Amino acid sequence: MSLELSKKGLLVKPSSTLAITAKAKELRAKGLDVVGFGAGEPDFNTPDNINATAIKAIQDGFTKYTAAAGTPELRKAISNKFKTVNHLNYEPDQVIVSNGGKHALTNIFEAILNPGDEVIIPTPFWLSYPEIVKLEDGVPVFVRCDASQNYKITPEQLAAACTEKTKAFVLNSPNNPTGMVYSKAELEALAKVIVEKDIYVISDEIYEYLTYDGEQMVSIGSLNDEILAHTITCNGMAKGYAMTGWRIGYTGAPKAVAKVMASIQSHQTSNPNSVAQMASLEAITGPQESVGIMRQEFDRRRLYMFDRISKMPHVSTICPRGAFYVFVDISKALELSYNGKKIETCAEFARILIEEYLTAVIPCADFGFADHIRLSYAISIEQIEKGLNRIEEFLNKLQ
Ligand code: PLP
Repeated sequence: MSLELSKKGLLVKPSSTLAITAKAKELRAKGLDVVGFGAGEPDFNTPDNINATAIKAIQDGFTKYTAAAGTPELRKAISNKFKTVNHLNYEPDQVIVSNGGKHALTNIFEAILNPGDEVIIPTPFWLSYPEIVKLEDGVPVFVRCDASQNYKITPEQLAAACTEKTKAFVLNSPNNPTGMVYSKAELEALAKVIVEKDIYVISDEIYEYLTYDGEQMVSIGSLNDEILAHTITCNGMAKGYAMTGWRIGYTGAPKAVAKVMASIQSHQTSNPNSVAQMASLEAITGPQESVGIMRQEFDRRRLYMFDRISKMPHVSTICPRGAFYVFVDISKALELSYNGKKIETCAEFARILIEEYLTAVIPCADFGFADHIRLSYAISIEQIEKGLNRIEEFLNKLQ
């Protein structure tokens, strides 16, 4: 034997978004005034009613193991929410509560993938999808979706990417990093292909409450019974309720899939945190006003960001309709020089911005688009204004 590490583990890339965030933290610790557009989490506090419920749960001694797939009350509440909000018919035994959306996705892929199975991932993508697929012995298959198609996959592209090995297709609407939202008509066209090819669609709906301009997220599984039988819906408390640290995600799946997921979870992690489950029950069943208040504030920032960036030189963007990100095309800037040196890569673009302009942005090579950056507007409007001024100053110096 040797002390060699697993091939699978070595294949996984560390998260580049966390690396930029770490750099920003390091500079802040030195007392520097850094603006961070890297955040992947709401800057709001978890609403008071949710916090109070968690405190009471601790005081009441709700601190023991629960059922591995989640408490019956929470699974029932999620099933109700799926039915009333998303028009998805998942019974409580089709609901699995996990330790965050990432864990839900990991369980899903573990439940459905055999070695070599292909998973179609429209590009750009949230950077964890391919890494999780690889960890679960799958093969990510990337399909490039350009700005001219609003970064959304077309049914023709999906059909063309399917092979005999295709097991699943990952759909993320509202989308990280693009902020795009698929319309009902677009989903209907994709659903036809999914049913025809007899593959799963993993619908990641974690940004469901963050839509703007009258846009509403449509759950692909709500379209008809045939597509529901092919749909695994993944969601979580993190983004809509400002609960990133509580680590609760959930899945609605066909019965057979849910059963396997529950078995896997029962050995790997057991139940998600009992107190966080109680807090999530309150989030889902309690007053919903705070969700609307957060969305309104995000909307105000989104419009400001879009307006400012649209007027900047050497970059372009499409108005986002969901989530809290602006996806910026910097391909023209990458052809230019800064202080006599060509920039060339988005990582270099981001490095100059953080080191010389104290502004953190996410270079999107690991999101599959090496000539784009992602800016999050989960920071105050004052910070946004300051950061955009700095980016503009930098862009104005490119030649
Ligand atoms: N899905 C998408 C598209 C995300 O952006 C994230 C987090 O950034 C997640 C899932 C996972 O969320 P969490 O594991 O924090 O619940």
